[in-house]
Amino acid sequence: MYYSDTHTHTILSMDGHVPLSALADAAIDAGLSALTVTDHYDFFTEDGKKAPALDWGPTLQQFYETAPRYEGRLALRLGIEMGAGAFFQEEARSFLSLPELDFVIGSVHNMSPEKGGIDLFYLNFEKLEDCYATLDDYFTCMAHLAARPDLYDVMGHIIYPLRYMPDGVSLLGYKDVIDVILKAVVEAGRGIEINTCRGKTIGAWWPILRRYRALGGEIVTTGSDAHTVEGVGKGIAQACDLLRETGFRYVAVYDKRKPVFHKL
Ligand SMILES: [Zn+2]
Ligand SMILES: [Zn+2]
Repeated sequence: MYYSDTHTHTILSMDGHVPLSALADAAIDAGLSALTVTDHYDFFTEDGKKAPALDWGPTLQQFYETAPRYEGRLALRLGIEMGAGAFFQEEARSFLSLPELDFVIGSVHNMSPEKGGIDLFYLNFEKLEDCYATLDDYFTCMAHLAARPDLYDVMGHIIYPLRYMPDGVSLLGYKDVIDVILKAVVEAGRGIEINTCRGKTIGAWWPILRRYRALGGEIVTTGSDAHTVEGVGKGIAQACDLLRETGFRYVAVYDKRKPVFHKL
């Protein structure tokens, strides 16, 4: 089986802990064929202010120092996880024109500018009404991004807020806006990822994958969102099982912004 982890963070992400070489070693130990590093480029700070432009130099240096050491053992690819790009389109487009990029995950981590731009990680989700108010805003932001397909290759962790919310929170009321997002992705020839959240989130993807497939979606990547060596590859095999069960025959890995398909 061809297993690939296409969503991982190194110490160059503010919430990352280890160098790329440690992730690559862990990927080989976990039996992966491919690893894509996707350190953060968020346009919002955690408290909703405009973040400074990313210094791409250290990311490039780390990648080009590390990648040759794994040739023939692990396919290493250079990606980025871009947060809030749709609210800073000019800067985002300028960055995304960099020729070194293999892969771009378009993510929403923060509330909209109108709602203060705070990172969801810092919000309190004890009350259900707060969960649904956040989800309303979250999916509006994601639809705004989905409609701008030059800003992403795959839509990042569509079910992201659920990782911070109580178990009873349901996305059933968001079927229509999720459809809008998935249709925009399919029509633009872009993809989605199954983000396993270090192996914790698998089953929750079932309805999204079924709907995406029914709408003609074919491009899916599998990512653990690992920030440590322990997280690398977590849940990828189960994500591939789920892809087969929901009607997919291939998993994608991006190389120079183009999906390369591997049989499941
Ligand atoms: Zn993310
Ligand atoms: Zn991430």
